[in-house]
Amino acid sequence: MKTDFSPDHQISFACNICGRSNTQAAGTFHREAPNCSGCGSTPRFRGIIHALSLGLMKQSLPLKQFTSDPHVKGIGMSEWEGYARVLSEKFDFTNTFFHQEPFLDVVSQTHWQNYQGSDFLICTEVFEHVLQPLEPGFTNMRKMLKTGGHLVFSTPFGDAPKTIEHFPGMVDFATCQMGEDWLVVSKKNDGSYQVYDEHVVFHGGPGTVLEMRIFGRDELVKQLEEAGFEVTVLDEAVPEIGYYWPSIVDRPEFGHIGEHYILLCKAI
Ligand SMILES: [Zn+2]
Repeated sequence: MKTDFSPDHQISFACNICGRSNTQAAGTFHREAPNCSGCGSTPRFRGIIHALSLGLMKQSLPLKQFTSDPHVKGIGMSEWEGYARVLSEKFDFTNTFFHQEPFLDVVSQTHWQNYQGSDFLICTEVFEHVLQPLEPGFTNMRKMLKTGGHLVFSTPFGDAPKTIEHFPGMVDFATCQMGEDWLVVSKKNDGSYQVYDEHVVFHGGPGTVLEMRIFGRDELVKQLEEAGFEVTVLDEAVPEIGYYWPSIVDRPEFGHIGEHYILLCKAI
């Protein structure tokens, strides 16, 4: 039976992270809005666990039902504590960070070597903030994983086939505030500078983590495939666990940004 996603329709779901049953109107779901009354998980966080379960457990199970195995090695990148803590109890899981230990800069030429032989890797909302070129980052993730290992990946992407770079050729940058406006001073690969006052978008509040691009779905999938992954876009909502959000159309300058669902990528 097809689920009714009209805005007032009440959707009941069991959180796959804490187990709490919730009922919310479909129109109130947002990818980044906490809506589990038990743990405060967002639809994206439940999607991450859904994808990881499909990869590791071959079916979508609640996190608490994942089979514990201290030999299964997993890596996260600044993951939400709500699921990172449980993953650490069940597996040999390391939550890494860009600014603190244990360090992982995904484009670093050396950091990936500390995490080789991993069974799974979670990389959510990282690549829209990575300086070009992106290829080393995608390749490093493949090199961290065993063949057959799983990458759970998310980033904002649109329906347009090509990725839109907000600051093409940028190799370094600074941000500054002038009155109400935020500016990006971009250093280009030829040594020149350019100042941008458009598309200056921060994730996590003004002046924090700069959004550098909106991926195009086809280009994103191709880059992951070229790095050695078999890619599945989990573009079917799973209302039973609250893996659902209405399509995101609040930035018309990029056309239809789309649902930007979670990607499950197998290292081949
Ligand atoms: Zn929950």
